[in-house]
Amino acid sequence: MFNFENTYSALSTKLFSKVLPTPVTEPSLVCWNEDLANKLGLDHTAYNKQTLANLFSGNQQFENSIPIAQAYAGHQFGHFNILGDGRTILLGEHVKDNNRFDIQLKGSGPTPYSRRGDGRGTLSSMLREYLMSEAIYSLGIATSRSLTVVETKEIIQRQRTEHSAILTRVNSSHLRVGTFEYARYLDDEQVLSELLNYAIKRHYPTLLAKENPALAFVETVMNQQIDLIVDWMRVGFIHGVMNTDNCTISGETIDYGPCAFMNAYDPKTVFSSIDTQGRYAFGNQPAIVQWNMSCLAGALLPLIHEKESVAIDLAQQLLNKFPELFKAKYETMLSHKLGFEKADQSIVTFAKTFLNFLATHKLDYTNAFLALENEKLIDALHLNEDFNHWRKKLNELRNEHKVDEDAAHDLMQKNNPSFIPRNHLVEEALNEASFKKDMTLFNELLAILKRPYERSEFNSKYQTAPSNFDSGYQTFCGT
Ligand code: AMP
Ligand code: MG
Repeated sequence: MFNFENTYSALSTKLFSKVLPTPVTEPSLVCWNEDLANKLGLDHTAYNKQTLANLFSGNQQFENSIPIAQAYAGHQFGHFNILGDGRTILLGEHVKDNNRFDIQLKGSGPTPYSRRGDGRGTLSSMLREYLMSEAIYSLGIATSRSLTVVETKEIIQRQRTEHSAILTRVNSSHLRVGTFEYARYLDDEQVLSELLNYAIKRHYPTLLAKENPALAFVETVMNQQIDLIVDWMRVGFIHGVMNTDNCTISGETIDYGPCAFMNAYDPKTVFSSIDTQGRYAFGNQPAIVQWNMSCLAGALLPLIHEKESVAIDLAQQLLNKFPELFKAKYETMLSHKLGFEKADQSIVTFAKTFLNFLATHKLDYTNAFLALENEKLIDALHLNEDFNHWRKKLNELRNEHKVDEDAAHDLMQKNNPSFIPRNHLVEEALNEASFKKDMTLFNELLAILKRPYERSEFNSKYQTAPSNFDSGYQTFCGT
């Protein structure tokens, strides 16, 4: 089915461990992503459902697969740890039209990096990753995707007792900031250099010609990560655990653990049960990514310059650009949400005071921008006179800038989703799917989330959040 190559396992053996998935009992296929399968050019017609379940649970091996667990380290909540794929196994790299995709099983059993973990994941958390990654993808944001979910008859214990499941994760690679931290920790410059060359060739081949490829690499990753965070902020996404091991070199979202979407606008919003200090809160995401980029630069210092003091200086100069680069992209994003092509001071001031207004009145982030675009929603959302004032001010601003109304609406429609995964709906759908074995709500929600920018009659079922739900809502890691 796959056109597998295994270039990562040709690197230094210090960077991975060969390990096979641990077989499971009675695997059955619960999700198959037809759209992704088509994009990958997979021909599955020759396989029946049971064979697919066997293959995508790891019970049966794919041709030309060399299963490995990748080693990596990571700063988790600011603390350095040696980690690695504790519950995922890379089966191989599927090559299609010169594009290379890692194909990973997640929840496929213990590896040498499992520490105290069981190497497994619950059906609800694998379905959660499937749903959320599909939502982020459909919102046009760089992300890993999910090809399959296979349920097993094995029982595991988390917040609740559940069947385990295995997700197939597809991404342009799983190289992380933490992979470089691990290579640096090995204290073997050869390995660090081999890894950097590999990453550059795989993701940013033009950087090989640069005068200082290591520095150019950090700069490129930094830009990719800024784009990603700005996109997350555009739609109200909170990753929840943006440790350096979850921060990709490709700039794609990975690791859908405790992530969630913000309903009422509040930069301090955090749902992850373990993030008591709000390190990964919605509004803290840029600062965290900046910090992660300093970890990447730190790991690559020996390759940036042979003299450490010079390397630090060069890295520092680059990292100092982060706030300015972020600000420019963030402000452009806010302007787009308001229907302006380019940011200027008056638009940015408007955007920021509008956001403050949303925070003060705990208004829904997604719907507030929809109501700016569509007057009818002011009544539907029970917004008051104050909100009308913002619409009027926006119109004035538009007139001042001589913005064409249709163009503004078009830009707003492209940047402001109608539908995001509302927390209460996600939980309801996962409960039904995992504990009542009824996929109806899950599939209905998934279908809605695949067309997030569609404008139709306001649908309060999918477009509003109960006001009391989020205050007690918690999400979890490693489930
Ligand atoms: P995460 O919070 O998902 O980024 O995971 C952090 C680390 O914990 C990674 O090394 C994971 O592979 C590992 N991990 C998470 N859950 C498990 C589990 N159930 N069994 C083994 N390792 C796990
Ligand atoms: Mg992780």
